[in-house]
Amino acid sequence: MKEPKLSPTPSNVYSFSRVKCFDQCPLRYRYRYLQGLKEAFRSIESHLGSKVHDILEWLYAERERGSEPDEAAMLERFADRWATGKDDSIAIVRVDDDEADYLQLGREMLCQFYGDTFARDRSLTLSLEQRLSVRLSNSIVFTGFADRVGRTEQGRLFVIDYKTSKTEGNGAEFSEGLQAPLYAACVLEQFDEEEALAGYHYLRHGTTRWQRVDRVRARQLMDRFLDLANEVEASGEFPARPGILCAWCGFNADCPAADVPDRFSGGLRLAQRESRRLF
Ligand code: SF4
Repeated sequence: MKEPKLSPTPSNVYSFSRVKCFDQCPLRYRYRYLQGLKEAFRSIESHLGSKVHDILEWLYAERERGSEPDEAAMLERFADRWATGKDDSIAIVRVDDDEADYLQLGREMLCQFYGDTFARDRSLTLSLEQRLSVRLSNSIVFTGFADRVGRTEQGRLFVIDYKTSKTEGNGAEFSEGLQAPLYAACVLEQFDEEEALAGYHYLRHGTTRWQRVDRVRARQLMDRFLDLANEVEASGEFPARPGILCAWCGFNADCPAADVPDRFSGGLRLAQRESRRLF
């Protein structure tokens, strides 16, 4: 089966994910962003992250509507979202795992979040899944989606990004250094304020890490992102960079450089089994 082509991403629109993809593997970047090819599978980790995000958004949206969903209602909705959002393109990359493990992990993350954070959270929600966009130069626009923008009980503006990753960030640019702080920089522009907090909440760990972004830092972040986007834009070569992420790359059945260990070959097998050839 030939996968349909997506449209290539407009050349001047750069998200954090786009620049990160180039950093991880320029060939994957070329396939996805320049050729507009659709990956043959989505990992179950990605499905889990997406469904957990849906539920967090729903919890805060319900609160804004004046209702206070209980934990049982949250779990019921999660089970429903999990099932309805699943299709045959979702792969369990780690071959020793099964779907029930991930469903259970999602339940555990949500219950921990509900008890430790949501139930006590008195902050105000200003927006959920807010699209942010800032022109950085004549030719480059930064765009992204902030999971939640709000104000603390003390009135401080914040942006928070929810992470379902196994490990917490380490402060490096493509880990914690840029994404949420850039979103905070965009929000500063929008609200015309002097500073905002940028946070990452790690759902598997139940931890939140905050950074303060003032106007000076916001300018530095925008300049740095512009440099990175210009480097990508100017690049004329897209070498393969094989590594552990090949197992989670939906081009691995077609990429000549793919390096996928057997124990992480669930996505590769799905792509081969379903003959999801891309080119
Ligand atoms: S399979 Fe590996 S080397 Fe090939 S495009 Fe994907 S990440 Fe890059």
